[in-house]
Amino acid sequence: MLGNPIYAGRFWWGDTELESADPTLIPWAPSERVLARLDGHPYTRAQSQSQSQSFLYSGMLTCGHCGSAITAEIKKGRCVYYHCAQRCEGAQCVREEKVSEALLESVRVLTMPETLRGLVTEGLKGSHRDVVRETRERVAAPRARYDRLGALIDEANTDQLEGRISAEFFGARRAEWDTDRAQAQE
Ligand SMILES: [Zn+2]
Repeated sequence: MLGNPIYAGRFWWGDTELESADPTLIPWAPSERVLARLDGHPYTRAQSQSQSQSFLYSGMLTCGHCGSAITAEIKKGRCVYYHCAQRCEGAQCVREEKVSEALLESVRVLTMPETLRGLVTEGLKGSHRDVVRETRERVAAPRARYDRLGALIDEANTDQLEGRISAEFFGARRAEWDTDRAQAQE
């Protein structure tokens, strides 16, 4: 996920970098820094896939005997094997399929019980309601200002038409109010 710039509104279409019109989850600047930290290149879709060490469990596992990193290599043409980087005593070479099975056993334990799932669902709904309420509250003040400025412009326009204020005065204030109004709308 962190390596995918789509969350900051950018994506690749073949060799062309495009900007997405959809709302983004994170701004581009921090996303770009994260991508750079991950592997030294802002966009490395093509490179990272062709790099030899891009094995499924690279960097995720440590040796149960000595604590060293587990590294992978390709044997017999296509089979991926994992083994202790130090090749310590007791270390074996394990096929990727076997690693997957072992990891799956651990993941199954994490299945969420029904009662807990209910609580989490309720919690998420609650926080969603909070977000909706906060958004409404945050929008209320600028919206009121926007409406007030609109009414003010209408009123001043009438005053100008009926000769109570000069066209110059109206023009000058109108520009100010339009700027304020655009800010409120934004
Ligand atoms: Zn080891």
